[in-house]
Amino acid sequence: MHTVTPIPAFNDNYIWLIHAKDSGGHYVVDPGDAQAVLDYLEQHQMVLDGILITHHHKDHTGGIEELQASHDHKLTVYGPDNENIKGINHPISGQTESVWPEKLDSDAKIFHLPGHTLGHIAYLIDDHLFCGDTLFSAGCGRLFEGTPAQMRESLQTLAQLDENTQVYPAHEYTQANLAFALTVENDNEALIAHAAKVKQLRDQNLPSLPSSIGLEKQINPFLRPEQASIKQNLSRHFSQEVTDDGTSFTLLRQWKDNF
Ligand SMILES: [Zn+2]
Repeated sequence: MHTVTPIPAFNDNYIWLIHAKDSGGHYVVDPGDAQAVLDYLEQHQMVLDGILITHHHKDHTGGIEELQASHDHKLTVYGPDNENIKGINHPISGQTESVWPEKLDSDAKIFHLPGHTLGHIAYLIDDHLFCGDTLFSAGCGRLFEGTPAQMRESLQTLAQLDENTQVYPAHEYTQANLAFALTVENDNEALIAHAAKVKQLRDQNLPSLPSSIGLEKQINPFLRPEQASIKQNLSRHFSQEVTDDGTSFTLLRQWKDNF
C-alpha cells in the first residue's frame, strides 16, 4: 500500500511524493525543483529513496542532480532510456512492462505513451497512476514531439484502466482545461458539476487532483473524440464536416492550442 502527497513547485507543477506504508520507502515523481522536495523532506523528517521520471522536460527533471548531490546514499532514479536525461541509473526501455523500485510495496507497471514527448512513460503503482504531461484532468498534454494519432492511442491506453484508478498528472491545469471542455460540451452535466467542485477547491487553494479514470471518461473530451456532439461542435468551429475520430482528436487538440 502506498500513500501519495503533492509537493507544489513552480507556478502549477505537482511533485508527487509516494510513501510505501510497509517497506517505508519514499519516492518523488518528476522533481523539477529540488529545493521544494528538500524543504518538504526536512519538514516531515523523511528520507528520500528514489525518483521516478516520466519525460525529459526541465520542469520534471531539473532537480535530479541536486537531490542526488544532497543525499549521502545513492538515490534510485528511474526514467525513459531514450530521452537523454542526466542522472537516471535505472533506465526504462521501450520493452519494459514493469519495474519494482527498491523499498516500494509493489511493482510499478510502465505505460509507453508517445505524444507530448516520444519517450514519455507513466507509472501505475497500486491504483495510483503517475501520468506526467500525457493525461491531465479534463485535458491532455501538448504535442511537442509526437503526432495526434500517437497521443490519441496513448490516452486510449489509459482510458482502459480500471475506473477507480487515481490519476496524478504533473500540473494543476484543471480549471483552464475545464473552461475549454465546457466550450466543447456545454451540456455535459458531469462536466458542469465537476467544474463547480473544482472552483470550490481552487478558491481555497486546494489541489483539484487526483482525478480518476472513471471521472476523466465523463469530463475529458480528449478521451471521447468519437462522440457525435463533440464532432458537431468541431464541425461548427472549424467550418468543416468532422466525421472520423482521428480528425476529431486532431482538431480538438488544435482548438485547445489556440484557446
Ligand atoms: Zn512536459
